[in-house]
Amino acid sequence: MIIPKKNRLSSVEYKQLQEIAAEFNCKVGKIEGEVRTLYPIIGDETSELFINRLEGLPFIDHVSRMMAPYKILALDQKHGKQTISAGQLKIGRDFTVIAGHCTIDPQHPEYFYKTAAAVKQAGADMLRGGVWKPRTNPHSYQGHDQALDILLKAKEKFELPVVTEVMDERQIKLAVETGVDVLQIGARNALNYSLLKNIGRYTENRQTAVLLKRSMHMGSVDEFISAAEYIASHGNTNIALCPRGTMPAVDGFRNFPDESITLLLKERTWAPVIVDPCHSVGKSEYVPKAAMSAAAYGANGLLLESHFDPKKGIGDDPKQAVKQEVLAALIKDCKEISRMSCSFHQRISG
Ligand code: PEP
Ligand code: MN
Repeated sequence: MIIPKKNRLSSVEYKQLQEIAAEFNCKVGKIEGEVRTLYPIIGDETSELFINRLEGLPFIDHVSRMMAPYKILALDQKHGKQTISAGQLKIGRDFTVIAGHCTIDPQHPEYFYKTAAAVKQAGADMLRGGVWKPRTNPHSYQGHDQALDILLKAKEKFELPVVTEVMDERQIKLAVETGVDVLQIGARNALNYSLLKNIGRYTENRQTAVLLKRSMHMGSVDEFISAAEYIASHGNTNIALCPRGTMPAVDGFRNFPDESITLLLKERTWAPVIVDPCHSVGKSEYVPKAAMSAAAYGANGLLLESHFDPKKGIGDDPKQAVKQEVLAALIKDCKEISRMSCSFHQRISG
């Protein structure tokens, strides 16, 4: 819908709209009200250039789009998946919990194995472990290839699919070739469009899924879904979306918690939503309530930092990893809340 700056356009101005629309195989109609006239676009309005040309006209205020800017990720797409595959696991069907270290410590592989056993016992469906780490401070531990072996040994030993973050082409290739089931694109790279394109191309026609975090600098929900569209349009639709909090933070939390956007994501896209409450609130004592609210909002699962003994951890683990007992209780209650949330939704929507 084209919204003009004044109540009605002159016939010369209207003709200008029609000429631009014709270049994009569209037409422009007229809805004449008592005071104002609005100008609906008839046809495919998804072209960015089309909208920019219209909004560049001095007599146009803005164009309000009816169609989503993403084509593959949109909820109404007939090839919309609802569930995605991560190894043998399906994400999007039952409530899925991914848990494990923020960062694998290559000096202490046994710590990761202990956590993997604990996480499995607590009822998690997938194991996380940071091999390569995007640290804000370049002097902090940056990760190591050795940690990949530890992650893969744990995958084999505990028969759990695994997820780790990748930040460049070499890491993507190595992780895919060695059998990592889910590649995480972290908050710092969620707006790195060439990386998103590359991961889409590299994982095309493979079983590998991509867990895309929301950037802490992303504004609109559409900006988040459009980032996922980069991956999908370059070959891989096996994508889950992961809200993890944005900046500026709420005073007292690490970020501005954003699990509530699950509602909006669910209205717009078929991609499963896996919420990360740990990076959102940033402190283990706050994580359970944030996780439960994600389940209530209808998330398909959680990504949690968990450590058998958080004080022995590196990276974020000492401050925001949950212990095994907490994880077990949390998984049980979040699954229950998720069931209640789904059945409530079904009941009230008849
Ligand atoms: C992580 O998962 O450990 C991580 C670095 O996450 P984010 O990209 O959300 O900061
Ligand atoms: Mn972390």
